[in-house]
Amino acid sequence: MKISVYPGTFDPITNGHIDIIERASELFDKVIVTVAVNSAKTPMFTLEERKEMISESLHSHKNIEVDSFNGLVVDFAREKNATAIIRGLRAISDFEYEFQMALMNRKLAPDVKTVFLMPNEKYTYLNSTIIRELARMKCDVSEFVAPCVQKKLRAKFG
Ligand code: ADP
Repeated sequence: MKISVYPGTFDPITNGHIDIIERASELFDKVIVTVAVNSAKTPMFTLEERKEMISESLHSHKNIEVDSFNGLVVDFAREKNATAIIRGLRAISDFEYEFQMALMNRKLAPDVKTVFLMPNEKYTYLNSTIIRELARMKCDVSEFVAPCVQKKLRAKFG
């Protein structure tokens, strides 16, 4: 059984994340989407809210699990018997940071491989920060997030 982990902040999950998860789920028997607890970012949604939105957005997908981790993603991957870490690459601007992380993770755990996937080009300009900003301005974000996320954003911003 080939298992991969897809770590991130997911504040909130967007269709760009879902695109990557769907691609990963075709390559692996199981994909564990895992929310980083100790990220340097201060999230808008609580850990529970973010996990709930991920589960709801992916309810029709079979080989996906939702979890969270505190500490190193490579430790989490080993604990789950995962052989790969999935990351999304949108543009060159993602590259430097992702490259650095992938090499550090390889140094820490040579047995865990980082796999980069590119989303459909319509999602290359999408990120969670932009979604939060649009929702704050009461813009329609239905093209970019699942209905359950839209509902949560509306509840937050009215
Ligand atoms: P992080 O805080 O680790 O950057 P994010 O939740 O923002 O967490 O992103 C998790 C992963 O998903 C990262 O590899 C990021 O590059 C990727 N990602 C985020 N948005 C998109 C998108 N629109 N298309 C493809 N990949 C994306």
